[in-house]
Amino acid sequence: MKTQIGIIGAGPAGLTLALLLQKQGINAVILENRSREYVEARVRAGLLEQNTVDLFDELNVSERLHKEGLAHHGMYLSFDGVRHYVPYTKLTKGRATTIYGQQEVVKDLIKACIERGIPIHFETTATAIDGMETSSPTIQFTQNGENQSLTCDFVAACDGYHGIGRKHLPKDSYNEYRIEYPFSWLGILAYAPPSCDELIYSYHENGFALLSLRSPTVSRLYLQVDNGDKIENWSDTAIWDELEKRLHTEGWNLQRGEIFEKGITPMRSFMIDKMQHGRLFLAGDAAHIVPPTGAKGLNLAVADVKILAKGFASYFKKKNIQLLDNYTKTCLKRVWRVQDFSNFMTYLMHKQAPHGSFEYHLQKAKFDYIQYSKAQAMTIAENYVGLKAI
Ligand SMILES: Cc1cc2nc3c(=O)[nH]c(=O)nc-3n(C[C@H](O)[C@H](O)[C@H](O)COP(=O)(O)OP(=O)(O)OC[C@H]3O[C@@H](n4cnc5c(N)ncnc54)[C@H](O)[C@@H]3O)c2cc1C
Repeated sequence: MKTQIGIIGAGPAGLTLALLLQKQGINAVILENRSREYVEARVRAGLLEQNTVDLFDELNVSERLHKEGLAHHGMYLSFDGVRHYVPYTKLTKGRATTIYGQQEVVKDLIKACIERGIPIHFETTATAIDGMETSSPTIQFTQNGENQSLTCDFVAACDGYHGIGRKHLPKDSYNEYRIEYPFSWLGILAYAPPSCDELIYSYHENGFALLSLRSPTVSRLYLQVDNGDKIENWSDTAIWDELEKRLHTEGWNLQRGEIFEKGITPMRSFMIDKMQHGRLFLAGDAAHIVPPTGAKGLNLAVADVKILAKGFASYFKKKNIQLLDNYTKTCLKRVWRVQDFSNFMTYLMHKQAPHGSFEYHLQKAKFDYIQYSKAQAMTIAENYVGLKAI
């Protein structure tokens, strides 16, 4: 098999990249480890920044998103039961976010790829990348138990944190940065109407809680738990009781419903400072992970491939390699900004120190500052909806 861009991974990064390339008349082939059913059912992120929605509009893949997605214009930040509204659309001159599950995004992108003739090979595992320093790198893969290869002009590893792309970068060619947070998120999906029209991020002396939603009938909620905690330790009633306690504010009620999915995810910040080597380019979770407090993972993945697609177009149309040479440098501006914001939100809202301690008061002072400083509220708002400039 031969193509111009060999893409490993049919997540948001790989699929969006293929569609961007197709628009420019550049051929790509996607290799995806899992089945179509599996990737279309994988529940993960759910909040799209304005930039992401704008890009999906440009790609003409947003019809269902606009029909079924829920536009949000602000969020509640709560500390010890005191809730403060951050009207981010008002603070950012009209920019908003949209609630639309990652699995729905993936379904729309796969459908568009197939309709537009982009080959996606599901249940196909990339096993090695050869010849990255030559002009025709090759992806080795297995399909139906057979070893095969895909020769390309460039390889885009959009294969997530556990993929093979990053492992093919020379060990001494990059620095790695990592924070493992001392807490995890217990997340549930429940058939319950949203108890609030906007998201609620809440600090409580028992730990953080987040109320979010996926649709008018499905709520997504999270609790901060200790690392090592087990989902078996939490009955459905215990989860709802704890959510009620941590999200409580005067005169407000939490709507309960049947929990149909629950799991515990560790919180981590991770990145490398070189996202390319020779003709291999990394995008999305393959190169960086952010804690979900800033709701940035999917958005960052899509932002990377927008830059990468521009680089490939410039190379194939103008024989200009400069944008590709600068790929890492251009991406890192946004990655570092997003890492900082996600880390800021994580430390702002999670319980890390005993209630009433010096550290607790510093944390509360940061929260209070948002309430009386428009500048601080605006800083949070513009980061949350996604900066336009980078
Ligand atoms: C459990 C979980 C919950 C999350 N929750 C949130 C959230 O609430 N909010 C938020 O903003 N973000 C969340 N994220 C992060 C967000 O989902 C990711 O940032 C986003 O999926 C990144 O997209 P991607 O395309 O880079 O990677 P992925 O979506 O991981 O896609 C990579 C693809 O590559 C495939 N692949 C891997 N190895 C190979 C191989 N060798 N050969 C072929 N294919 C391969 C994988 O099967 C996968 O389909 C969550 C992530 C996880 C794991």
